[in-house]
Amino acid sequence: MWVSCNVKVRDCLASTSVTLKRCLKLGVTMAKSKFEYVRDFETDDTCLPHCWVVVRLDGRNFHRFSEKHNFAKPNDIRALHLMTKCAQTVMEELEDIVIAYGQSDEYSFVFKRKSNWFKRRASKFMTHVASQFASSYVFYWRDYFEDQPLLYPPGFDGRVVVYPNNQTLKDYLSWRQADCHINNLYNTVFWALVQQSGLTPAQAQGRLQGTLAADKNEILYSEFNINYNNEPLLYRKGTVLIWQKVDEVTTKEVKLPAEMEGKKMAVTRTRTKPVPLHCDIIGDAFWKEHSEILDEDS
Ligand SMILES: [Mg+2]
Repeated sequence: MWVSCNVKVRDCLASTSVTLKRCLKLGVTMAKSKFEYVRDFETDDTCLPHCWVVVRLDGRNFHRFSEKHNFAKPNDIRALHLMTKCAQTVMEELEDIVIAYGQSDEYSFVFKRKSNWFKRRASKFMTHVASQFASSYVFYWRDYFEDQPLLYPPGFDGRVVVYPNNQTLKDYLSWRQADCHINNLYNTVFWALVQQSGLTPAQAQGRLQGTLAADKNEILYSEFNINYNNEPLLYRKGTVLIWQKVDEVTTKEVKLPAEMEGKKMAVTRTRTKPVPLHCDIIGDAFWKEHSEILDEDS
């Protein structure tokens, strides 16, 4: 319900919100409805300035999801590549993400310290990341699971954590990569015991209870001839996505000169893309090699 409206304002209101903004720019007094006060109920969730903002997504009930969709155990390469495709889409579609790290059914996205995207509102960061990721998961599913139909819509929960300096951000990412290592080592032995030694899941779990990393490595080596260090880096280290310059070669039809018409030529252009790496991010080497990620102006 609009309380007093002059002609100019009414004309503006009749059109879109773009026009509405234009009215505000022109300094036209806007009429307010008596309902406007409910806006004051919205809480302020601005992320602290100058801090790294991390959004972490995690697949909802993916234990069941992986079983229903016949994921290979301990790692399904299609599922891991699909997760990374979704994360790349998030980085390309949204703004200000400098690095992402993913493993299993989770992905973390780090926004620039000085990002002012949506005025640093946590709910905007989180919901944009989660919805873009989830829709991409469904959209690209068939590209990775050709023979496996998607049986029901997957979901992802999200959280926002703000880290005050480079050390805490690096420790956060180290924590996630250490988690990847611990889980993958456990799962690799667990599934070897089940798939190759014929143990039931409960028996395999019992066998591994109280074992240390060295014990698990030893079981893998002596019983299955597996050297854990030779397992694929993708499984042991997870995936880091960083922006890198990539040469893209495309073929283009040449228009001119006339004698060249109809001929195709390879055109190379450089684009900056989120590139997946499977490397250690706990040590200093990675951060020295890619020092631009933690740059002050970032
Ligand atoms: Mg999960």
